[in-house]
Amino acid sequence: MFDKTKDPVCKKKIRKKEAVATSEYEGKLYYFCSQKCKEEFDKDPEKYI
Ligand SMILES: [Zn+2]
Repeated sequence: MFDKTKDPVCKKKIRKKEAVATSEYEGKLYYFCSQKCKEEFDKDPEKYI
């Protein structure tokens, strides 16, 4: 199972199940450790991918 992923904002390794927030960008789903990281990503996704 590939349930581990990386928060693109803070680079923390997290489990998808434990992600606090997710965001879809250009058909890909990103997982975040906190709502704050998601907000940062949504502001400027290109910066983090
Ligand atoms: Zn984070």
